[in-house]
This record gives sequence, C-alpha cells and structure tokens, in this order.
Amino acid sequence: MPNDPASSDEALGMGRPIDRRDFLNGIAVAAGAAGGGFLGGTSAWAGATPWPQDRPDYDPPTLTGLRGSHAGSFEAAHRLRDGDFWAGREAPQDTGEAYDLIVVGAGISGLSAAHFYRQAMPNARILILDNHDDFGGHAKRNEFHLGGKLHLLNGGTLMIDSPRPYSAVAGGLLQALGIDPVALSAACDRNQLYPSLGLQHAVFFDKETFGADRLVAGAPAPYYGQGGSWRAFLAKTPLSPAVRADIERIEIGKVDYMPGLTSEVKKDRLSRMSYRDYLLKVAKVDPAVAAFYQTHTQGEWGVGIDAVSALDCWGFAMPGFAGLELEAGPAPRMSYTPAGYVQGGSYTFHFPDGNATIARLLVRELVPGAVPGHDCRDVVTAKVDYGRLDRPEGPVRIRLSSICVRARNLGDPASPRGVQVAYARGEGVFMVTAKACVLASWNMMIPYLCPEMPPAQKAALHKVVKTPLVYTSVALRDWTAFHKLGVSSVSAPGGYHTSFRLNWPVDIGDHAAERSPDRPILVHMTRTPCHPGLSEEEQNRAGRAELLTTPFETFEREIRDQLGRTLAGGGFDPARDITAITVNRWPHGYAPEWNALWQPVLPLEQQPNVIGRARFGHIAIANSDAGAAAYTDCAIDQAHRAVGELLAL
Ligand SMILES: Cc1cc2nc3c(=O)[nH]c(=O)nc-3n(C[C@H](O)[C@H](O)[C@H](O)COP(=O)(O)OP(=O)(O)OC[C@H]3O[C@@H](n4cnc5c(N)ncnc54)[C@H](O)[C@@H]3O)c2cc1C
Repeated sequence: MPNDPASSDEALGMGRPIDRRDFLNGIAVAAGAAGGGFLGGTSAWAGATPWPQDRPDYDPPTLTGLRGSHAGSFEAAHRLRDGDFWAGREAPQDTGEAYDLIVVGAGISGLSAAHFYRQAMPNARILILDNHDDFGGHAKRNEFHLGGKLHLLNGGTLMIDSPRPYSAVAGGLLQALGIDPVALSAACDRNQLYPSLGLQHAVFFDKETFGADRLVAGAPAPYYGQGGSWRAFLAKTPLSPAVRADIERIEIGKVDYMPGLTSEVKKDRLSRMSYRDYLLKVAKVDPAVAAFYQTHTQGEWGVGIDAVSALDCWGFAMPGFAGLELEAGPAPRMSYTPAGYVQGGSYTFHFPDGNATIARLLVRELVPGAVPGHDCRDVVTAKVDYGRLDRPEGPVRIRLSSICVRARNLGDPASPRGVQVAYARGEGVFMVTAKACVLASWNMMIPYLCPEMPPAQKAALHKVVKTPLVYTSVALRDWTAFHKLGVSSVSAPGGYHTSFRLNWPVDIGDHAAERSPDRPILVHMTRTPCHPGLSEEEQNRAGRAELLTTPFETFEREIRDQLGRTLAGGGFDPARDITAITVNRWPHGYAPEWNALWQPVLPLEQQPNVIGRARFGHIAIANSDAGAAAYTDCAIDQAHRAVGELLAL
C-alpha cells in the first residue's frame, strides 16, 4: 500500500528503536569470528580469546532480528555447494581430538542420536557439531523479557504432534525425558483463556485479494473450531453473494460431486488432483472461493491448495467432501510412511518454546550442569549455561557455530579405521576424528560432505528439497486491540503472513500465560513463501531463494503494515505497540514428504530418502529428511535407526 499515508514508514514506526539486538549481533558474531580466528571451545589448545558460546553473556534465545538460518550459519555450506569453499585454503588444522562418535547436527535428531549412543555405550565420548549459534535445529527457542516477565515462543518446531502415533522408540524417548504429553495437556493447556475473554478466530479479507480490508471475527466450526453459522459469518464478509453461497455449499453442503463412482475410484481420482482443481473443476465454485481456501494447507505442508492433493485435504478435514461418502481410511500424505500407511495421529502438547524444550531436556541429560533443574516443567524457565557445552572434560561436547564441511571414512569405506570430520568455525577449518559419525544434518548437503559416496546415493540425496517457511515472533506493548476486536487469532488468505495469533496460553512450572490484555504479550505469525502454479518442489526452491534474499527491513515493514491494517479497528498503532521482532526464517524447513500429485508410490528400497540414508562405511545418516516426514517423532526414529546401524558394525 505505498501511497496510503497509514503505510508510510513513519506511520508504521520503521525508525522506532525496537529490540533487534540480534540482527546486529548475528553479524557481529560472524565478523568477530572472522577477525579473531578463535579456536574451539575451552579445549586445551584454544587461544586466549573465548569463543562466543563460552562468553558469560552468551544467550542466543534472547536475540531478536533475523534468526532461524541466521547470518554466519550457512555461507560456508553455499560455498561448498558452489565448489569454491576449498579454493586457496590450507589443509584443516588438526585439533588432535578423537571421539567415539561425532554427530553433525544438534537438532532433535542429532541430540537423540547422542542419547541413544550413550545409552548403548555409557562411556562413549561424543562431539556434536552444529552450524547455528544455538542448539535445537528447527526446535529453537525465542525468549523475551517484557515488563519484567519472561515470555517464550517457539522459533521453529511448534509442538509434539504427528499424523502418526509416536513409535515405541520416539514415545520412549519422551518418557525417558519425563514428558507425558497427555498429562501435560490436561494440566497445563489453558485453551479456554481466550474464549473466556470473548476472543475468537477471525479472517482478514484484504482489499488486494477480496476488494476491501475487513476483519471478520467468529469464523465457524469445524475448520476454525468455533460455533456460529457460516451464513451469519459470510454475511459480514466483503465476498459477493455468489461466492458466499459457494463457500456455504462447500462447508455445510452434502453434494456428491462424483456420482456413480465407488469410494475407491473417487479416492484414486482425488489423490491425483489438487484441492484447488477439485473446488474449481469438480465442485465448480467461483474462483474467489479458491482464494478463500488457498492458504489453508500452508501451515501444515508449506504449500497452498494448488500443490496438495484433494485426498490429502480430505484427510486434513478440509470441507467439500461430505456428500462423497468416502470410506474411512488413510489419506496419502497424512499417513504415509516409508513402510506403508499408518492411521491415527499422535498425542499433542505445546511447550511455551515448542519442542525446544525437548532439545533442552536432551542437552540437560547429555551435558550435566548445562541446563539446571530436574524435570520437564522447571526446564521451561531454566537458563542454559552455554559455557559448559564444550568442555574438554565433558563426555559429550556441543560445539556451536561449527559447520561440517567434510566427513570421510579413514581407509576403505568397506572396512574403515574410523572417520575424519572437518568443520569450519569463523575463518578456520578444523579436523577431528572418531570411530564413527552420524550425519543428523540436512541431507541434501551430504554429497558435498562425502563426495566419495556412490553416485546413486548422492543423486538420491540431491533430491531433498526442504520446505521454506517463516515463524515470526512479535512483542507487543499490550493486546488491548485484540481484546477490543474480540479476536485471538487471524487467518489472512491474502496476507504476507497468512496467519497470526496471540501466544498459546500455557501454564507450566514457573511459566504462566499472560492473562491481562493491558500487559505485554507475544504474537506468533506464519509465512510460507509459496509460488502457486509451480510444482511443490519448484515452489520450495523459489521460496528458499526468496527467504535468503529478503532483508529484515522488508519483513519488518510487512509485519507492521499487516498488524496495523488488521487490528486498526481496535486502535492498534504499529509504531507505538510493537516493541521487538524476531523473524525465524527457515529456507530449509520441513523435511520433504511424499506428494501424490507428483510422485509415484515406490517400493521401500526405491524411495529416495531410503537410498539416500544408507550407511556409508562408518558414517550413518539420520535427520527427519531420512524418514521423509517433517515431524519430531521421525527425527527421533531416524536417529535410533542410524545409531543402530553403527552399533551393529
Ligand atoms: C518452522 C517449523 C515448524 C515445525 N513444527 C513442527 C511441529 O510442530 N511438530 C513437529 O513434530 N515437527 C515440526 N517441524 C519439523 C521439524 O523439522 C522436526 O520436528 C524436527 O525438529 C527436525 O529435527 P532434525 O534434527 O531432524 O532436523 P533439524 O532440526 O533441521 O536439525 C538439523 C541440524 O543440523 C544442522 N546442520 C545442517 N547441516 C550441517 C552441517 N553441515 N554442519 C553442522 N550442522 C549442520 C542444521 O542447521 C540443524 O541445526 C517444524 C519445522 C519447522 C521448520
């Protein structure tokens, strides 16, 4: 809205001194590393200057600005991909460090791999490397201190939740960490807080997409989970009567749009057409109806309804299928595992920092003393002592801001003597050795780390295209505008962020949800940089490029404009009310999953993730990529499999 005075930089508050310390610090860390040539951790051979993670004030969850794949975390990987990383470099500096196991990737998969390995080999010495300045991988924590109170949000992995039940292995790990999702949900979720204040879900219709800016609260069940009639809700929207009638037909109608076909044939056809095509060509709705539903699938799958099968959308409880009388049974994407179909979802629970709590509990167990406390409640407010993560005396060491650039079997991969791993930290490249290695890192990078892998395996790994997405955390001075408007969460089909909501109200340990609208709060916003019209994979590639080239200022302006326009009726002033912004950008986000629209059903041994994850000498491959499912249970299961492969040697 460039010519709208309300959208001028001044009105939006672009010049305001919000907290974006990390935006500067993220670069400062990288620059400091470059200039200082720091060596690793507090190991005996380290130089006098401590590495940032050893500094007493090191606290990455509190950093704001551009986070997720932050500056300094990915550049070496891109140079490796482009073939110019090693040009003109001296051989890696040998640290002399030797471990039983090196794990690349301190996400939930890598941390779980260390857990499983130590379970089998209690005296094992393990080094965990990660390219980010914090551990957790996608399971990152955003921490704010607002008005004297701790406020938390997930910077990535939102919650314990999977379309499949957690396996005995993944569920067993949660249990070992003291997490009982069912008991926690019953005791800690405060789902009734916002409804008790009269706040509901709303849809924001923007003028660019729907002809007028309008916020309409009270979107009905079942999709939005609230009462009220569709007719009453739609009557308040700027949609034309024909479009409203079509949406009502899709939502509550019981029309069989595929008469005369069996459930099996219907399902087969639905699995090979997008939901968008189903709406437009089979249910024959007005094109504006497709715009209304376009972004419904983006949170779950990172792409819109043009790139997801209608059958998956049926499995995801999207509307429009009631009259088809489809037999109960699996929908492909929701329940597909490399081994076949599994039905039924998992238990769910959202910790205030999402699954970062799982990562923090794993670190507490692996590095005694680093995360104070005793259970999954006190860990929520515990402050990590990062200085303890990489101590020479520790049996498990976690080395941050250290990107693996090489993993090599020593000797013939058929019977290696061990593994040599090189990692870049600052301007230096360092070498460590181990008996074995688990690559729990993003699988598409493995061919660059292990160029001597068999060509078919490298080709399979090159096929991994992760889904880009952005989780933004915005700190607000108060939430009186939400309160006045009677809104707690908003879907914005035409918005830069396609949804946002007040922080999840969870009381756990010493952490209590904010209850008073005149107090500060965090807002969670989701953006998926989709490019409708392309295949899912092409959309993901284009979205990734977009995220890597979008400066923080663009995100900030869009956030201010969107919140300002959406909440204007409640008196929201973006210049006054926004006090801090953290943009967690994930150019390499969700693990790629099987998509019925573009991919054939293949036998297990021909699936790219299965070919790609084969053990290579003493190097085993974990990460959720290896299981082709973007969920925490998958990350844990894959860690268990990878460790099992090494222990069987
Ligand atoms: C925004 C977002 C929301 C999500 N929400 C959920 C959710 O609600 N529930 C759920 O179950 N799942 C969710 N997921 C999926 C999530 O990916 C998995 O649940 C899980 O956290 C993945 O763990 P991982 O260890 O396999 O991978 P990651 O978390 O990606 O960890 C891998 C780590 O390895 C690092 N790495 C990569 N290459 C190298 C290298 N060469 N050297 C050193 N380190 C390297 C990466 O940077 C990363 O830190 C979400 C994902 C995203 C992006």
